[in-house]
Amino acid sequence: MLQKLLACALLATLTACASYSPDKLDIDRSIQATSQNSRVEYVVLHYTSASNEASLKILSERNVSSHYLVTDEPRPHVYLLVDESRRAWHAGVSAWYGRTDLNSASIGIEIVNAGFENNTWAPYNPTQMRTVAALLKDIIKRHQIKAFNVVGHSDIAPQRKIDPGPLFPWEALARQGIGRWYDPELARSHELEFSRTGLPDIAWIQRELQRVGYTVPASNKLDKATRNVIAAFQMHYRPESYTGQPDAQTLGILKALP
Ligand SMILES: [Zn+2]
Repeated sequence: MLQKLLACALLATLTACASYSPDKLDIDRSIQATSQNSRVEYVVLHYTSASNEASLKILSERNVSSHYLVTDEPRPHVYLLVDESRRAWHAGVSAWYGRTDLNSASIGIEIVNAGFENNTWAPYNPTQMRTVAALLKDIIKRHQIKAFNVVGHSDIAPQRKIDPGPLFPWEALARQGIGRWYDPELARSHELEFSRTGLPDIAWIQRELQRVGYTVPASNKLDKATRNVIAAFQMHYRPESYTGQPDAQTLGILKALP
């Protein structure tokens, strides 16, 4: 830029410098700073509880959206509805490790799945889950997302949300290197210890849930809000039972979770 200005100044003595105008933006993008990283720190997973057509319509036309929508067709279709550099409206009031407004720093993936319908949970289509796994691997790699920041809507909004539900295959994804999981042997040894010595108090449970990212009251009481958080934790890490009631197995996993 400086050289150009000098050239213009020299030329100006001979003739008018027609090409230079200070009002016209001329941005040099040839040099990229080494100190930078992605603004995206989280991936949030959802189910749509609507059909392919309805999901697409809702997420593209109403006041709610996600970056990606994965259909449950025999050959799942992956829509990019909001560019990754922009903010989609999928998380709502939410928090993870104390950070709020997760829409501003996350990528949202909506998966077509009926959710809880007629008193039963709709299973996830295995082909669709392979597509979701491929999409997650790509996003995690490009944005360098940490394992513990791959979360479900219920993890970040446990008082309001239950998606992606207890049938979401977190453990299978963790075996492919996606998301956080626990050492089963360590969890089992903690479980046996709790079975022998009795469960720790509610204050300990609340502190541990907070340690692993959840927003939970520090009431030292098994109140409704605390039970909701325990249920969200169970849906993710021990989905066989998610009543929100603490037990030795749940707390063993909680203590083992990195
Ligand atoms: Zn959701």
